[in-house]
Amino acid sequence: MMPAELVCFEEKCRARYPITEVIYNCPQCGGLLEAAYDPPEQSALMLKRIWRERRTSNAPLDQSGVWRYRELIPFLSTYNCVVTLREGNTPLLESRQAAQYGGLDRLVFKHQGFNPTGSFKDNGMTCGAAQALRLGMTRVACVSTGNTSASMAAYASAAGLQPIIFIPHGNISYGKLAQALEYGARTLQVEANFDQILALVRKLAERLGIYLLNSINPFRIEGQKTIMAELLDQREWRAPDWIVLPGGNLGNTSAFGKALREMKELGLIDRLPRLAVIQAEGSAPFYELMRHRRRTRLPAVEHPETLATAIKIGDPVSWPKALHEVTTSEGVVEKVSEQEIADAKAVIGRSGIGCEPASAATLAGIRKLTAAGIMAADSDVVAVLTGHVLKDPDYIYRYHTGELKAPDGSPIASHLGNQPLVVQNDADAIARIIGS
Ligand SMILES: *Cc1c(COP(=O)(O)O)cnc(C)c1O
Repeated sequence: MMPAELVCFEEKCRARYPITEVIYNCPQCGGLLEAAYDPPEQSALMLKRIWRERRTSNAPLDQSGVWRYRELIPFLSTYNCVVTLREGNTPLLESRQAAQYGGLDRLVFKHQGFNPTGSFKDNGMTCGAAQALRLGMTRVACVSTGNTSASMAAYASAAGLQPIIFIPHGNISYGKLAQALEYGARTLQVEANFDQILALVRKLAERLGIYLLNSINPFRIEGQKTIMAELLDQREWRAPDWIVLPGGNLGNTSAFGKALREMKELGLIDRLPRLAVIQAEGSAPFYELMRHRRRTRLPAVEHPETLATAIKIGDPVSWPKALHEVTTSEGVVEKVSEQEIADAKAVIGRSGIGCEPASAATLAGIRKLTAAGIMAADSDVVAVLTGHVLKDPDYIYRYHTGELKAPDGSPIASHLGNQPLVVQNDADAIARIIGS
């Protein structure tokens, strides 16, 4: 087994810690932490063969789209603490309509909504839960109203850990909260805002021995790396020109960039795809950061706004990592409006694919990037759809019936609306309607 360590991400610091230390930031400089390893013993060719063979295996570890690629994430010393719900294993889906809408000849989606709890958070959570068990923890916590809670609740309960979710009082997204309740999470609504609750939970975590599975947790990032490994495996290791993804807390941007760099170093791919990170206009601090020449401080958004709640984040924790990855890959950051997200989402829906609002930012972003000449029409592009269409049914109904309003109260036009019709119990009348 390869020795693994936690390393401070800050260039000036790079302090190293044992992989079993319960820390979330560098104790010396406060920087982000990342898992680091010696390279695997196997050659790139050998790894590709092993991973492909595991697809025919009935062993739970091999059936997981995360642990199948365990040579890329060797932070555990044994695998007996792994709990898998068969996360990952998500398809590549091509859409002609979406390609045309986005100004591309071809477009393929990697749909992470096919995960057990309906989002890519599962790829990371199976790793976070495994690390919690390995550390001998009995309780895990996160601050989230969204897909993180849904995923953490499922994986913690499956692993016999107690999940505890902290949410700001009165700020609830029901689809995702419902999952958390069903999966057995202790759910605490606190009379405070997100940042205050985070500070509170950090204090409590230390006092009560609770392991934090917030997006800063470096083991979740490791799990999310396998989204890129699986994608490339599915493409016979041909790197695309672009990988497009929505940016919220920027954990996924960090994970994808790290995965691609590591896979290039191991000789699994011969070039780095460019990352295109798409943010919502009302919640676009990373977009603003990239516009500045001196990128030393994130211009945090105090009151982030967007209906795409999964990317409604004003002060993304992983921005230093994301900045490094977007720069290294010669990537770009774009922002899109509420109207653009809503219409792009309807196009993805009409393709028979569907996704939640945050995911649709990808197609809206592609449309802008091709129009601006930044992304060529004949580029080889994969857009990552991060969450399942049923995560936010209220949004969908409102869009199609022309009732959707942006956070500032302005109406969102139902350009691709699909209204349900009320009809009489009359065969002739109905025949006239559907026949015409
Ligand atoms: C968490 C999430 C995002 C944002 O990902 P980050 O890693 O926070 O940038 C986007 N879409 C969905 C569906 C999510 O659940």
